[in-house]
Amino acid sequence: MAGAAAGDSKPGVRKRTDLRVPDQPWGTSSPSSPSPAIVLVPPSASSSANCGAQERGQNSSPDEDGLGSHNPSKGSSRDSRSERPESNNIRVAVRIRPLNAREVSAGGPTAAAIQVCGKSVSIAKEAPNDGARGPAVTISEYLRPGRTWNFDEVYDSIDKSGTAATQEDVFEGIGVPILENALDAYNGCLFAYGQTSSGKSHSIMGDPSSGADKGVLPRACERLFDMIARKTEQLAASGTPMQTTVLASYLEIYQEKLFDLLTATRSDLQVRLHKDLGPHVPGLIQAPVASMSDVSELIDFGAKNRAVGATSMNAHSSRSHAVFTIDLHIAMAMDGGTRDLRSKVSFVDLAGSEKQKKTGATGERLQEGIAINQSLSTLSRVIQSLTGCFGKNMVVPFRDSKLTLLLKDALSGNSRTVLLACVSPAAFNLEETVSTLEFASKCKLVKTSAKQNQEDKRELIESLTAEKERIAAQLAREASMRERLQAELEKEMENARAHQIRAQNIHEEKEEIERQLGELLEAHATEKQVEEAKAKAVEQELKKRHKELEEQ
Ligand code: ADP
Ligand code: MG
Repeated sequence: MAGAAAGDSKPGVRKRTDLRVPDQPWGTSSPSSPSPAIVLVPPSASSSANCGAQERGQNSSPDEDGLGSHNPSKGSSRDSRSERPESNNIRVAVRIRPLNAREVSAGGPTAAAIQVCGKSVSIAKEAPNDGARGPAVTISEYLRPGRTWNFDEVYDSIDKSGTAATQEDVFEGIGVPILENALDAYNGCLFAYGQTSSGKSHSIMGDPSSGADKGVLPRACERLFDMIARKTEQLAASGTPMQTTVLASYLEIYQEKLFDLLTATRSDLQVRLHKDLGPHVPGLIQAPVASMSDVSELIDFGAKNRAVGATSMNAHSSRSHAVFTIDLHIAMAMDGGTRDLRSKVSFVDLAGSEKQKKTGATGERLQEGIAINQSLSTLSRVIQSLTGCFGKNMVVPFRDSKLTLLLKDALSGNSRTVLLACVSPAAFNLEETVSTLEFASKCKLVKTSAKQNQEDKRELIESLTAEKERIAAQLAREASMRERLQAELEKEMENARAHQIRAQNIHEEKEEIERQLGELLEAHATEKQVEEAKAKAVEQELKKRHKELEEQ
C-alpha cells in the first residue's frame, strides 16, 4: 500500500474539479493524443445534449447533494448523547485515474467508451472498437451504451487540461468527513476497490513522503493530530481538559492468511467476533502514536514487512489486502465527571481483481490470483446478500473469508463507511470498469448502523450519586425503624424480666406459705399427739380412779 510506484502518467496542475468538458467530440480519434475511455462533462450539460441523452440508471440516488447520509450536518449533532444506531447507506465515490504510460503508448481510442456527467457515469453511446482491447466490444446488455450509474462523488483524475482531481481533493471530499465523524465518536471505514492498477493504493497511501502525492491515509493521520491539538487547545481555554489516546494497527491478508505488519514475525492471525467490540484480531499489535512521525514510522515499517513477505512469497504487495486502523479514545473532563469518546477508523486497500486471460498468470501467481478473486467474490456475495439479492433469510456469508469477517462492521454494522471505487479510463479495461461500477452501485444500497461510541461519565456520576442518595435515605429509614424496633424489643424484654421476677417472687412466696403451712400442720399434728397422749393419760387415770372407786 505504501509508496505507489512511479512511472505512470500523473495529474499535472492540481485544481479542484470533478467536472470537465471533453477535449474532443465523442467518437473522433487521434492516435497521437489518445483520449481516455471515460471523460467528464459539466453538470449543466445534464439537461443538454451530452448528459440529457443518458438514460437514468436503476441506481439513481436521492442523495443528489453527493454528501449522502454522511454529511455531518445531516447526521446526529455533535452534542447528541444518543447511542441509538442510525441507518446510513454506504457512501460511494468513484475515482478515474489517468491513462498510464502503456495505455498512452498503445495509442488508445479517442472515442469514449464511458462518459461521465456530474456524479453519474455511463457507457458512451459509441463504444470504441480500437483493437487495443482485442476483439471489438460486444454490445451486450452488460456493456450496452447508455447504461448509467449514479454516485455520491466522482473524482476525475484524468490529467488532460490541468483539472484533474488531486489527492487533496479526494482527501477533502471523503477523508475529512471520516475524521470529523471519528472525533464525534463514530467508527469509519474507507475501502478502495477496483481492478489491479486502477489507483487504489495511490488513493489510499500514495507516496507518503510527497506533499502532493500522499494519499488519504497519511493526510488523514496528519490532519487528525492537527484536529486533536486544536480541540485540546480550545477545550483547555474553556477549562475543559482533554486526554487523547491514538493506537494504530496495520495488517495484510494474503491468500487467506492474516499477517501483522507491525511485527517481523509472520504468523497467521485469526479474526474473532466480539459481541460488543465487533470483529477484532487477537494478538494484533496496537501501537500508540502521538504524532505524524510516529505514524510514518509504522507505515514505513509495515511497507518493509510487506515487501519482505512479498519477496519471500514471490508476490507484489498489491496482491494482498492491507488494512490500517486508527483507534481513537478521547476523555474530556466535565463538571463532576468525564465524557469518553471512542472511535475506530480503517483504511482498506483491497487487492485488485484480475483476469487470468489478461495477466497470463500461471503457477503460484495464478493461485494468488484465484485466492484474491475468491475473497473478492465473497465480498461481492456479502454485498449482494446485504442488498437482499438472495432473499431475506439468507445468512450473510461474512465468515466465508477473513476479509469479509474483518469488514463485517464496516459493511453492515457500527460504522459510517465509504467505498472508493477506482477505475481505469482505458477502453482496454471497459469490462472491468463496468464490473467495478456495478459493484459500487450495489454498495450504495447497503446500509450500516453507526452509533456514537460515547459514555457521558458526568451523567453516570450524577445517576450514581442520585442512586447513592436514594440508598442512603433508604438505609436511614431502615436504621430508624431498627432503632424503634430495638427500643420496643428492649421494653418488651424489660417487661419480660419484670414478669419473670414477679413470677419468681410469687413462686418463693408460695414456697414460703407451703413451708409455713407444713410447719403449722406438723405443729398441729404434734399438738394433736400430745393432746391425744394427754387424753389417753387422763382416760387411764380416770379408769384407774374408777377401778379404785369400785374396789372401795
Ligand atoms: P492499484 O493499487 O489499484 O493496483 P495503484 O494505485 O498502484 O493501483 O496504481 C497503479 C499506477 O497508477 C501507479 O503507478 C500509480 O502511481 C498510478 N496512479 C493511479 N492513480 C493515479 C492518479 N490518480 N494519479 C496519478 N497516478 C495514478
Ligand atoms: Mg494496490
